[in-house]
Amino acid sequence: MPEKIRIIVNEDRCYLCGGCAGVCPALAIRVSSSKWEFFQDKCISCRICINACPVGALSAEPLEGEL
Ligand code: SF4
Ligand code: SF4
Repeated sequence: MPEKIRIIVNEDRCYLCGGCAGVCPALAIRVSSSKWEFFQDKCISCRICINACPVGALSAEPLEGEL
């Protein structure tokens, strides 16, 4: 089983394009015109969003110990 992760956004880089939300197979990210949101309970830790962001605004942090 892949390691469970939390996705973190670097708000200084993110320009709310919605690309990460568009590729997330689990709908764990929601992007509106004013904010980026992450829903941990939906995330399946696939990391697709990290690779999809054109400006490298996303990173992952292990959730170990919090399960
Ligand atoms: S790691 Fe996968 S499931 Fe989690 S937010 Fe990113 S794209 Fe969605
Ligand atoms: S793809 Fe990157 S820049 Fe676009 S909304 Fe997601 S985190 Fe922000």
